[in-house]
Amino acid sequence: MSKIEFKTAKPGQWLGLLGGGQLGRMFCMAAQSMGYRVLVLDPVANGPAGSVADDQVLADYMDDQGLAKLAQRCVGVTTEFENVPALALDTLSKSIPVSPSAFSVGVAQNRIEEKAYITGCGVPVAPHAAIRSMADITDDLENLLPGIVKTARLGYDGKGQVRVKTLDEVRKAFADLNEVECVLEKRLTLQKEMSVIVARDHKGECATFPVAENHHRKGILATTIVPARIDDAMAAQARANAISIAGALDYVGVLCVEFFVVDELGLVVNEIAPRPHNSGHYSIDACVTCQFEQQARVLAGLPLGDTRQHSPAVMVNLLGDLWYGEDGSVREPAWEKVLAIPEVKLHLYGKEQARVGRKMGHITVIAETLDRALAVAQEVRDILG
Ligand code: ADP
Ligand code: MG
Repeated sequence: MSKIEFKTAKPGQWLGLLGGGQLGRMFCMAAQSMGYRVLVLDPVANGPAGSVADDQVLADYMDDQGLAKLAQRCVGVTTEFENVPALALDTLSKSIPVSPSAFSVGVAQNRIEEKAYITGCGVPVAPHAAIRSMADITDDLENLLPGIVKTARLGYDGKGQVRVKTLDEVRKAFADLNEVECVLEKRLTLQKEMSVIVARDHKGECATFPVAENHHRKGILATTIVPARIDDAMAAQARANAISIAGALDYVGVLCVEFFVVDELGLVVNEIAPRPHNSGHYSIDACVTCQFEQQARVLAGLPLGDTRQHSPAVMVNLLGDLWYGEDGSVREPAWEKVLAIPEVKLHLYGKEQARVGRKMGHITVIAETLDRALAVAQEVRDILG
């Protein structure tokens, strides 16, 4: 937790945001709907967040003058992207409340520290070993094969990961990754992937969102189904684990905990993200309070909102691929057709350029039953092609 006390912010006051992407955009909207003003610090003009924020400081995250402007005008600062320099948060925390802390972000940015922390709260993670040099690749690692070599830092959407079957392949992967700090993780047979978003305020109060079931394609989240199709005991366990991890980090803000369900091991934590998460976007349309409002409430020193889900939901990510026809020509997806289905809610992030694999928006299907939501999500995918 930052040394500076969180105080209740009055509507009209400024909340600061490091980062200019879609998570920041949705944070702005949630904060603004409660009457706050948002100042974004991001080096890119007219980005998804900058274009809806009340004002933007166009500067790099480590720019001292830029950070000073944020500190002068805002009552607190939060962040929307994972790889924000922990040092920037540390600098800010000397003059204003920062959520989450540089410490929490630092832990989440390093898979080795992250796993140690999670294990330390009695929550299991995948069997793994740290690889810091070629000398660390010894016969002892055989029991982690087949496995995945992951860079300890700066991975996202499956980037910085190599699948390996032999120790020679581990050596080659480590060399190919330029011998940066890595972890070797045992490859597990996943029954399910799930996530829990937890918000924790400066008084230590916690609120978790319902467990989300996640399906990826090519390493990128494709669909989130909520509630996850698991039994109540496992759902309660996942939510309790998320609270333990947030508590152990003395976390203030919104945290996402990603889980695997594995045959031999049951529930294990894959990784944590110190911010709202793509798998929590369903909360905008399906819950009384969404993950972004929760982020704004924590920062503004307000009580947490009710995370109750009022409708079953299926979230479908809209990647840039949808903007390209089979012949490679650029097209606009048929929004009028999907919006003709009454259960469909469309969110586009205002990105000018569609690129393959780029997250352009998402659709949340809100239906009376989960089966109906799943059927409509399929219909949406069929229409968009
Ligand atoms: P990222 O930071 O890119 O999200 P993750 O560690 O979450 O990286 O890995 C991305 C995806 O790869 C996971 O969602 C999961 O599908 C798969 N994966 C990661 N680790 C394992 C593992 N140990 N065993 C099996 N699959 C894994
Ligand atoms: Mg992940």
